[in-house]
Amino acid sequence: MRPARLLALVFLLGSTAASAETVTHQYTVSVDYSMSRLWVEARFSRPVNSVTARSHDAGKYLLDVRSCGEDQQIRMRNQRMMLPQRGISCMNYTVDLKHAAQEHRYDEMLAPQNIIVSPSYWLWRPELRTGTEIQIRFRLPENVQVSVPWQKLAEDGPVYRLAKSPESAFAPAVFGSFDYRELKVPGATLRVSLLSGVEEMDNDSIAQWISATAMDVSLAYGRFPNPSPQVVVIPIGDGRINYRSAVPYGRVIRDGGETVELQVDQSQPLEALLADWTATHEFSHLMLPYIERKHRWISEGFAQYYQNVLLSRSGAYDDLYAWQKIYDGYERGRQSRPELSPNEATTGGMRAGLMKVYWSGAAIALMADVQLRERSGGKESLDVILDRFQACCLPSDRVWSGPELFAQFDELASVPVFEPLYRRFADTAGFPDTSELFERLGLAVSDGKVRIRLLAELRAIRKSILKTNDDAASWREQLAAN
Ligand SMILES: [Zn+2]
Repeated sequence: MRPARLLALVFLLGSTAASAETVTHQYTVSVDYSMSRLWVEARFSRPVNSVTARSHDAGKYLLDVRSCGEDQQIRMRNQRMMLPQRGISCMNYTVDLKHAAQEHRYDEMLAPQNIIVSPSYWLWRPELRTGTEIQIRFRLPENVQVSVPWQKLAEDGPVYRLAKSPESAFAPAVFGSFDYRELKVPGATLRVSLLSGVEEMDNDSIAQWISATAMDVSLAYGRFPNPSPQVVVIPIGDGRINYRSAVPYGRVIRDGGETVELQVDQSQPLEALLADWTATHEFSHLMLPYIERKHRWISEGFAQYYQNVLLSRSGAYDDLYAWQKIYDGYERGRQSRPELSPNEATTGGMRAGLMKVYWSGAAIALMADVQLRERSGGKESLDVILDRFQACCLPSDRVWSGPELFAQFDELASVPVFEPLYRRFADTAGFPDTSELFERLGLAVSDGKVRIRLLAELRAIRKSILKTNDDAASWREQLAAN
């Protein structure tokens, strides 16, 4: 072997060894008792010459930043830190936490003892590639707790691990005094923060409702899809506005972990919360990874399908009501921008196409579910494929495309069902036609009203899709009666 080759080999071995080990940067984050300032000490495991914060506005709240050893001030230019080319191994910085908290759109709805400030405004860090992570330890005064979506480490105290993840929006970090609870459901411990708003909230009822809706999602395949999600409940009732729904808004955020954020009108009774579909919809999203925005119709559609299926299995909806809701949704999807395909409606940014974005994936979910059940003689179903998908691929640290996800689903099924459906409908104008499928399932429609036929070719499949789970149903009944 000639020296050049030998050198190349040594280099190759050296680089594989280096890439196999995980690089862990150590951060310590302190907050004062009035939550006006936040201090960070960042110790890098190897010198870094670029650190950024996710928000372009983060620089506005940075009060001071220095390298540790030489205590040299680091200059800022255009909201960026100007680090020396050779890199630094440690830095300290101070953030105006109080003003950064005002960036949050619900800041005014919260009582002063708790604030939400996304790490996007205060966490300056190197890029998190595969094999790079940050261990973050909080030092907090007695009256201040913290809630973040990052993975909690087993050590005592608030120590977390932040690794590569999709960045769908800015994750919330909650600081202050709030009601933190760990709620156990099959397969998961939900890390729930019940914030304090302007008006009192019955936190026990809220916790029961969160448990019940998270339980609904475990009715798909026996466990909740993420073992430890962050759940943030923001009470938005202020005694003045009348909200039409008990849960006016919810969303899932994937940024350093998975967060489900729910806004509740705390003046409404537990019964109204249990009848609302928002939380079931948001939790259902966690059965899929974060899908590229241009294929958002898949994530929304699957969540729409499952919210109705699961609320029926948990006894909140009866079968006819659930099929009617599914039918009505398909009709809204059909009427929405018929000249566009699902992919076009999603990328077009046209609000009029919103129902197509929300329901075309739900039609495909039903088609896939029935085909799987039919072809496997009941051994496979959408539940089974999602169960296998959770086992192989969730929670995922990356963004998936729609076709990539469907290819993975087909790999997990004994017959390919998803890619053919994608090819047929994703770029085809109009709406996936489910009328023949409804007919075979024994769902007759006249004047927009669904009727269930006793005799139908796929009657057994129709029944098995919405089959009630008796334990879940009796638990919900008990909760609603109290
Ligand atoms: Zn959604």
